[in-house]
Amino acid sequence: MFDPIAFRAQFPSLCQPEIYLDNGASTQTAAAVLNAMDSYYREYRANVHRGSHSWAERATSAVEAARDSIQSLINAADRRAVVFTSGTTAAINLVAWGLIDYFQPGDRILVSAMEHHANLVPWQLLARRTGAVIEVIPLKDDASLDMAAYEALLANKPKLVACCHVSNTLGLINPVEAICAKARQAGALTLIDGAQAIAHLKVDIQAIGCDFYAFSGHKMFGPTGVGVLAGRLESLGELLPFMGGGEMIDKVSFEGVTFNALPHRLEAGTGPISEIIGLGAAANMLQSLDASAYEAELTALLLDGLAALPVKVLGQGPRVSLVSISVDGVHHSDLAHYLAGKGIAVRAGHHCTQPLHQLLGLPGSLRLAVAPYNTKQELQHCLAALAEAIALFQEMA
Ligand code: PMP
Repeated sequence: MFDPIAFRAQFPSLCQPEIYLDNGASTQTAAAVLNAMDSYYREYRANVHRGSHSWAERATSAVEAARDSIQSLINAADRRAVVFTSGTTAAINLVAWGLIDYFQPGDRILVSAMEHHANLVPWQLLARRTGAVIEVIPLKDDASLDMAAYEALLANKPKLVACCHVSNTLGLINPVEAICAKARQAGALTLIDGAQAIAHLKVDIQAIGCDFYAFSGHKMFGPTGVGVLAGRLESLGELLPFMGGGEMIDKVSFEGVTFNALPHRLEAGTGPISEIIGLGAAANMLQSLDASAYEAELTALLLDGLAALPVKVLGQGPRVSLVSISVDGVHHSDLAHYLAGKGIAVRAGHHCTQPLHQLLGLPGSLRLAVAPYNTKQELQHCLAALAEAIALFQEMA
């Protein structure tokens, strides 16, 4: 049985009175993560994979143990199919650059209309370099993905489909298994952006059936500056290395280079060693966490509370504990400032989904993103403050 108070106690930064509901942007860091990083710096700080001394051996083992933890967390078929990057953005760019030889002018790339800029702009850059064409999977009126339209677009034989597992603005969970199965039948590669899914859902990348899956440490109670590109070993093996340098080579001469095996071939240079070790600790913690029922309770409390206010909830369908709203006649930034004044941290803006907001006819929205360390009282407090703020700003309008 999940104990939210015991879970909360694992986060040193949460001893403050402030209410933190900006977990979609970044979660707080667990003590186990801080301790893992601290002991690397205090006890065995060395570079990895290149030394025969005991410090390097210990650092290498810790990094490789973190790889095993990630493999287990997402059920990757092979530990070599877990590549450390600096985050989701870096992971998606690694794929987009790595596929440069795969695209010809006129080839199609499908992206959904709810993508974060990190899962849109790298494809736009790839399209610019190769002459490929981006097509957008539209949304239905409730802002969920239009699967019929998706199937129709697959008839054009796209070479790649890029879609988020969970939208960082809508909080909606996309049917990624079906998306990947249909893409595969149509002969397309798939990249799933798991940045917002990894902390909320039990992710099984083999069951999803994607070629590539990307996520960030800082959204799963881990450190900043580290993330993962995982997927099918064969698909990762097709990527041309994006960065050249140490670690990613097999043999180098003045005449040429042959590359190292996966995962090292995609991990040029010294990586964020302490962060990788911290990420491993976060993965271990997440793997033993079973907060889905509690998160569903918090989501229901939030949605019920919002239903009693004059707000519009963006998107309908299966969702994680992340909800964005808009309020007629009130600017989202005014609401966020008011809440900040009451010690409540939320996020206002376009959340790096400008095209989605354009589609919804909104300049931005207010996002409440809940983690299992949040309490029901915190949400009630936030809803009450939101009601005050709306009444105040609507009166002023
Ligand atoms: N995709 C989604 C869905 C996200 O929510 C985010 C972070 N807001 C990113 C990609 C980018 O993640 P990062 O900044 O950690 O690279």
